Amino acid sequence: MATAVHGEPAGAQAVIVIVGRDRGTREILHQELAKRYRADYQIVVCDRPAELAPWMRDLRAAGLPVALVIGGVGAHDSDGIEVLAAVRAIEPTALRVAAIGWGDWQSVRSVFGAVTAGRIDHWVTAPVQAPAEEFHHLITEFLREWASQRGGGFEPVQVIGERWSARSQELRDLFSRHRVPAGFYDATSERGRQMLYELGLESPELPVVLLRFAAKRTAMVNPSNLEIADAFGVMTPLPPGEVFDVVVVGAGPAGLAAAVYASSEGLRTVIVEHEAIGGQAGTSSMIRNYPGFSQGISGAKLAQEIWRQAWAFGTTFLYMRQAESLSRQDGHYRLRLSDGSVLASRTVIIATGATYRRLGIPHLENLHGRGVFYGAAASEAPAMAGRKVFVAGGGNSAGQAALHLAKWAHQVTVLVRAHSLADSMSDYLIRQIRSTPNIDVCYHVQVADGTGVTHLESLILEDTASGARRSVPADALFVLIGSQPRTQWLRESVARDQQGFILTGLDLPAGDGDRLPPGRPALPLETSLPGVFAAGDVRQGSMKRVASAVGEGAAAVPLVHRYLHTTAAGPPAPNRQPQDRPTHPRPELRQRLGGRAHAHRAQHDRHPADKESRNGPDHGKRPRPETVVSSASGRGHRR
Ligand SMILES: Cc1cc2nc3c(=O)[nH]c(=O)nc-3n(C[C@H](O)[C@H](O)[C@H](O)COP(=O)(O)OP(=O)(O)OC[C@H]3O[C@@H](n4cnc5c(N)ncnc54)[C@H](O)[C@@H]3O)c2cc1C
Repeated sequence: MATAVHGEPAGAQAVIVIVGRDRGTREILHQELAKRYRADYQIVVCDRPAELAPWMRDLRAAGLPVALVIGGVGAHDSDGIEVLAAVRAIEPTALRVAAIGWGDWQSVRSVFGAVTAGRIDHWVTAPVQAPAEEFHHLITEFLREWASQRGGGFEPVQVIGERWSARSQELRDLFSRHRVPAGFYDATSERGRQMLYELGLESPELPVVLLRFAAKRTAMVNPSNLEIADAFGVMTPLPPGEVFDVVVVGAGPAGLAAAVYASSEGLRTVIVEHEAIGGQAGTSSMIRNYPGFSQGISGAKLAQEIWRQAWAFGTTFLYMRQAESLSRQDGHYRLRLSDGSVLASRTVIIATGATYRRLGIPHLENLHGRGVFYGAAASEAPAMAGRKVFVAGGGNSAGQAALHLAKWAHQVTVLVRAHSLADSMSDYLIRQIRSTPNIDVCYHVQVADGTGVTHLESLILEDTASGARRSVPADALFVLIGSQPRTQWLRESVARDQQGFILTGLDLPAGDGDRLPPGRPALPLETSLPGVFAAGDVRQGSMKRVASAVGEGAAAVPLVHRYLHTTAAGPPAPNRQPQDRPTHPRPELRQRLGGRAHAHRAQHDRHPADKESRNGPDHGKRPRPETVVSSASGRGHRR
């Protein structure tokens, strides 16, 4: 979900365009689309495909955004794919959808090829008669995708800040990855100044975050992520002495899948996440290779669905906190968190994934968030409209980022050190890049330096063969140059390879078996610490894909059961025997779906010897941030 950046003309009613020569297809499409969407969209029909381009230019000139162009393919519209493909050059963000006639297998093949090559975005089977629920299900999904990429609509959160500030960018990214619709207002714009005035904030420390979803609006001045999470009401403290069956560290695909399976099988489960639900996957604009989603799914949407599932099954979420160390004491594992609290658990699943390598170029590091971005930064894409953008990296994530940015940017240049993309990027992405006119790829090149004071202005590029350097004007650089595991926090507690990836199962060197009970080989996914498992990208030898991360997260749970039932750690708490494990959400959990993120079980397995085994020194109390919070009326108060 993009964060809407304001200061542009207000959005007019969006348009759905139907194009094609076949009268029957046009009519049924019009009938169905008008019936369901006329209240929110203008539906226009173009029966002469050759005239589509000037039509769309007229719509653009009139300030009418086109959400979706749906066109016939097949006998009457043999050039249907070309017609749709040409839309990109006129309205880059409009989704291009091919409507295939039922049983037209001939067209299906070429449509699949066109989706793979990025010439069109989606396909549907044209409706035959009402009610056409399958058709509408897909159309609604496409419109949702368009709206979420574009931003706008109701803004439960508004951020007023400096356009080119690292913290503003962090906040846009944070809300976008959590799929919280947030509007960004430049503090120097007329609207931004007016908003600050209405809040009674004169020259406040920026950014200001305004929460508009509660009865009483809250304005937070330069808040930390933890304070925002608290204001959202998702920071309920844990009961004293809680000992979990499993602590999952990291809420990327691996951690979320582990949480779903562990909670659904009755294990007392807590998941700790430092940044945003969804991990790396949450930054991907469109994942096309995750099984079950034939039209692709955005990473943030996929993550949100898994998160909801885990929540419904009873997982406790600890947001905005980082695991800082892992140790073993009194038969339980202890995880010290960045807020000073300590979690106690019988088992641990480490799913902390990987993060982008930094460029390590001081000038460009200073411009982080001010034109230099690590990762795909989906939240920034709409703000790249008309700009000259560079993407450093030759992997799939760089390819996806370039394709996404190309919908808004004037020109996207992919910078690759190798002489080809073939070894590092999937073929379907290479084909999509080739067929996108405003993306070019430069080989044998790396970023050597850059210039800019308030934000990035130019890059110094170096030819990797000759060492020759040249300067190019640049509005933004997105860096996706490989990843490194997020395992520094573990220090020597578990065995890792030279790059820092966690060793598991048969990959553990003989010497590390010493940490396991004598004679017991490590379980698959088990680390050098008994009962501590690793899943997903953080694990040496993992596939670095969403599906494999989800698979490993799920696979770790039966191993947790096995460990709990065959070792000194003992079975789960007596009140939660395996035969009692619910396979469906309990009624109170279902009720909780409409409420807050955490609820706590009445029964707790206490560990009296451990006074640290609670959620920090302020346990049981609402955290008291020092930040001044102003109400919408402008009266400042301290909570
Ligand atoms: C832009 C992009 C596009 C991609 N596209 C695809 C694709 O199309 N198809 C595909 O299959 N794969 C894709 N991938 C790869 C895929 O996203 C990863 O393989 C997958 O996300 C790995 O999941 P994970 O749960 O192991 O780790 P991650 O996704 O890295 O999640 C780890 C989580 O742990 C958290 N964390 C880290 N350290 C701590 C700590 N100490 N305490 C608490 N929390 C911590 C992090 O904040 C993060 O949320 C893409 C990756 C990127 C970046």
